[in-house]
Amino acid sequence: MPIPPQFRALQATRLASAHPGQGHAVEPTVLTPADLPPGDVVVRVTHSSLNYKDGLALQGRPGILKAFPIVPGIDLAGEVVEGGGEGFGPGDRVVVTGWGIGENTSGGYAEYARVQSGWAEPLPPGTDAAWAMAVGTAGFTAMLAVLALERHTLYGSVLDGPVLVTGATGGVGSVAVALLAAAGYEVHASTGKLQEEAYLRELGASAVLHRDEVSSLNRPLESERWAAAIDTVGGSTLSGVMSALRRQGAVAVCGLAGSAELTATVFPLILRGVSLLGIDSVACPRPLRREAWARLARDLPAERLAPMTQTYGLDDLPQLSRRILDGELRGRSVIEVA
Ligand code: NDP
Repeated sequence: MPIPPQFRALQATRLASAHPGQGHAVEPTVLTPADLPPGDVVVRVTHSSLNYKDGLALQGRPGILKAFPIVPGIDLAGEVVEGGGEGFGPGDRVVVTGWGIGENTSGGYAEYARVQSGWAEPLPPGTDAAWAMAVGTAGFTAMLAVLALERHTLYGSVLDGPVLVTGATGGVGSVAVALLAAAGYEVHASTGKLQEEAYLRELGASAVLHRDEVSSLNRPLESERWAAAIDTVGGSTLSGVMSALRRQGAVAVCGLAGSAELTATVFPLILRGVSLLGIDSVACPRPLRREAWARLARDLPAERLAPMTQTYGLDDLPQLSRRILDGELRGRSVIEVA
């Protein structure tokens, strides 16, 4: 299928008066094939998604978008219309998350995208583009966090006890709760929205606690409560988690929804053998990427994603991006592009 001469997109342009990285505007526009960045695969984008990082980019915050003009959107899924790569060609469905799309090069908020073939993964059998974007970078990150904790079990029993998820009603958090529950672990969910307790229990949490209970744990070593944790919040929440992990416990550190700062002592690490496991979804190596997508397809079929997924259009992104930064959205937001 040829690329049409014009197609719809959201585009960010630097404001005339701004210095590099200091302000941009995002507006609906019409692009042509000549506007697509370099790459060897063109995808007709049917679905994208909204992540916290997209919220920052769409709201004009500096630091995410590094080249202008650019189409934001760190996730995309759709059909290959030109080019191909390992295991896919024209007509096949692919997913692209990370690798700098929607940050350094144009991403998912346009009906067509051009990317490097090494960034695209064929959709796992039995899944579709809407499923892949209900997972998106947030769900993929949650999967990487679970895999990191499982790798850590090699010489211990890090998952043999309650596993805490912070920021549990968010995108990463919701998928993490569902994945841990699907794997049979006991899940405790920490949230600022106790009114969402029924939702978190539906996803598989067996206990729900208020986020203040975690962020107020401020002694170097607290009573041992959790065997492991997936943290999306950072700051005093992460230091609280560290101080209350059991011996040989580990926390997969994913995000900074609360704060990028970390003030902690080394006592949990040197007196209890606690480990901090860093999670980076953007430049995750391909073998791990494939393992993660295959496990997601196995453990998180569309019906398990349904309770945590809302679907919107490109036009909804301005108000959605405000709401995700205010912590108001629940679960995952899929964007229907074409
Ligand atoms: P969401 O906005 O969907 O979820 C974040 C959740 O954190 C909110 O729903 C809320 O959950 C909680 N939260 C929000 N603000 C605060 C606050 N001020 N203090 C404490 N808790 C808060 O974002 P995502 O799930 O998409 O992303 C979560 C984090 O993970 C972000 O920082 C993001 O940048 C990061 N991330 C990192 C990746 C990586 O590769 N390492 C990839 C993807 C995301 P609740 O109300 O339930 O407490």
